[in-house]
Amino acid sequence: MTGVKLFAQVILPLAVEGTFTYGVPDGLAEGISPGSRVLVSFGKKRIYTAVVNALSSDPPTGFKPKSILSLLDDQPMVDKRQLQLWEWMVSYYMCTPGDVMRASLPSGLRPESESKVRVSASYDDTKDLDSYERLLLEVIRDQGEVTLGDLQLTGISRNPLTILKQLVEKGAVELNEFVRTSVSPRVVSYIKFADNYHKEEALHQLLDKLARAPKQLEMVEALLGITGTEDPGSAPLVPRKDLVGKKGAAGVLTVLIKKGVLEQVDMEEMGPNSGQQGSALREPFILNSVQSDALKSITDQFKKRQAVLLHGVTSSGKTELYVHLIDELIKKGKQVLYLLPEIALTTQIIQRMRQVFGSRVGVYHSRYTDSERVHVYRNLLGLTDEEKYDVIIGVRSAIFLPFTDLGLVIIDEEHETTFKQHDPAPRYHARDSAQVLALYHDARVLLGTATPSFESLFNARNNKFGYASIPLRFGSVEPPEIILANIKQATKRKQMVSHFTPELMKGITEALEMGEQVILFQNRRGYSNYIVCNDCGHIPKCRLCDVSLTYHRISGKMECHYCGHHEPVPGACPSCAATRMTMKGFGTEKIEDEIALVFEGIRVGRLDTDTARSARGSERIIRNFEEGKLDVLIGTQMLSKGLDFENVSLVGVLDADSMLHFPDFRAFERSFQLISQVSGRAGRRKKRGRVIIQTMDPDHPVIRFICNGDFEGLYQDQMEERQLFGYPPYKRMIRISFRHKIPSILDGATDLVSKELRAIFSSRVYGPQYPPVRKVQNYFVKQVILKIEKEASYERARKLLKEVLDGLPGNEVYKSIRVSIDVDPF
Ligand code: ADP
Ligand code: ZN
Repeated sequence: MTGVKLFAQVILPLAVEGTFTYGVPDGLAEGISPGSRVLVSFGKKRIYTAVVNALSSDPPTGFKPKSILSLLDDQPMVDKRQLQLWEWMVSYYMCTPGDVMRASLPSGLRPESESKVRVSASYDDTKDLDSYERLLLEVIRDQGEVTLGDLQLTGISRNPLTILKQLVEKGAVELNEFVRTSVSPRVVSYIKFADNYHKEEALHQLLDKLARAPKQLEMVEALLGITGTEDPGSAPLVPRKDLVGKKGAAGVLTVLIKKGVLEQVDMEEMGPNSGQQGSALREPFILNSVQSDALKSITDQFKKRQAVLLHGVTSSGKTELYVHLIDELIKKGKQVLYLLPEIALTTQIIQRMRQVFGSRVGVYHSRYTDSERVHVYRNLLGLTDEEKYDVIIGVRSAIFLPFTDLGLVIIDEEHETTFKQHDPAPRYHARDSAQVLALYHDARVLLGTATPSFESLFNARNNKFGYASIPLRFGSVEPPEIILANIKQATKRKQMVSHFTPELMKGITEALEMGEQVILFQNRRGYSNYIVCNDCGHIPKCRLCDVSLTYHRISGKMECHYCGHHEPVPGACPSCAATRMTMKGFGTEKIEDEIALVFEGIRVGRLDTDTARSARGSERIIRNFEEGKLDVLIGTQMLSKGLDFENVSLVGVLDADSMLHFPDFRAFERSFQLISQVSGRAGRRKKRGRVIIQTMDPDHPVIRFICNGDFEGLYQDQMEERQLFGYPPYKRMIRISFRHKIPSILDGATDLVSKELRAIFSSRVYGPQYPPVRKVQNYFVKQVILKIEKEASYERARKLLKEVLDGLPGNEVYKSIRVSIDVDPF
């Protein structure tokens, strides 16, 4: 149909509001539809992948739109329900459509100007190419690699992007990763120390020698930070890409390899979503009566309710129950989304699901490569060689996948705060967004946990959610015995050995004698929290942020946990030049050191974000512990995430107090959850476990609630307080953060905004105030909080807020203020 002009409103992957109109060239009008990906140019001739949101035949008024450069797909990559979810997010979380698009599509699906085009290695058949295609192919082959942007300059008389698309379809060239149809093995490069440098002594000499080559030193230290100095010979191989992130790093690496300090090892590897064939599948276990009652109750409630909260103590068999539910649904041809918290160690869960469902399980995790994510995305669209996955195990961003017939969303460890994304936008909560997604599919939602979030429990009590419980551990192992150890008293009596109370010392000794394993929990990584000068009290702080630096022994440096900045430990106090500096507080690294001194010969592992930078790193540590190659595992909250170890009889919480005193209205709720969760790792199968909690304040009400396992008591207590002070779930909160390098400008802007907000929202406005960390990466931060009654219209509140904030850049002085909005920030 020539003559009829078509226009597309497209979403650009940028933080710009609204959509942009482009003309659809006649040749593309047939194949384009909402959800199609197109290439467009925007701004300074940059090329972006955009997603068509709507089509219309009415030309825009007032300007002549540019034309779409190329249509990337024959079928839409984003379906109606996904676009609907995007729209909901834009409005609810007050972000731009581009923010949501970037969170939704793996970067391999969003080629841009810089994206690389190369000739496919396997392609040798040019017979079916026309002359333009052959010409372009030659251009690309000549240059080895061309970016999309440069392709525009090739001078071929036809639109090179259209020709490129044909070449991609014929398998002749590859554009980024987005054309891969199967997960074939890929070659991954790893770096390790050369054999000469496996002894600690040799390493020290090396470090001294490199003192004059700071770049090389930095790289060697980075590598040591991952492998540890203990025995670099048997340390895990470190993926090359983890080391070459920085500019110029690849060159430095080459030099170090040439010098014979480091070695590169290339290995063929299967991605996490392949290589599952062959092993026999097992049937779901037969549920015991408590479990099957819970299952029946859940399925009954699903007839009338969208969401059910499953409150089952740790080790009660929740995961087995999920297996049964999943089995039922996929037999009906439905899809299941199994959501896990971001930092969860998915390995064990994936294994368990694969034992039953085999290759029907796809995994979507932010720790895997982008091409792995592209693969899962395309699989769900039916664009890969294998069968479509029926079960997706994923972290929060998995809610954006193109499900066609979702029947159930399981939100495991629903209380976990990592379901909420804080930065960048969209600042969404996956638990809440998954419920919206489920609504569009008429799917059910199961929220499972041993320690419900107070919101979810509140929802269950108010009949918004259904409720089911499993009050007993599987196999009726009794819940662990909880023992309090008073740090204050032991310190006074000089009974502390390093950071261990007599109770914990005795507990560890006994467990080790019995050949059992021990987990020690300290929710802080690094060596010491901060360093302080004995003479003047000076505490070294980050140059860029308002926080003290944490000492890490492995790197020998002080590190900022907010921006990653690090610097050497000063030989003398930078403030008064005295030389006596003391380390205060302790992190996982220090415990790892000290326990090895106290208990000679024990084998210790550590699990925190430092040792588990890659999925491989954490898998290895967990496997070693599972296989009994370690006696003690020390870790941060990473330990609390649904791990199931057979032989752990003792869990030690080294410092319960630091969690309780965290400045957040949720601190008590979180402490209870964390301590109960880690405690749940003790005595899961055979015999009753023990938990020793070290505290300065054994009479603290929350410690009492924990000891008595009195979740209900804490809940009632906290709900009263939240109602009194107007916190969720009684009120909703929106947090607006303002950032600027100059405090006075920040003050001016926030005063202005809060005044305008008060005129509308009166006493619902709190602030402006500085958050606990008032400066991050050289930007001062100030916040204003809006508290809105549950009954009031949230939508109207958001609209009014937006009007005020939109006015700010109109003021010349405040133009450069950065504003970010966080809806339901906690
Ligand atoms: P949760 O998810 O509640 O922490 P799990 O599902 O991990 O509990 O169960 C704890 C342990 O008990 C696991 O090792 C699991 O395999 C085992 N288990 C649970 N239910 C059954 C069952 N019905 N039959 C056999 N083993 C079970
Ligand atoms: Zn910093």
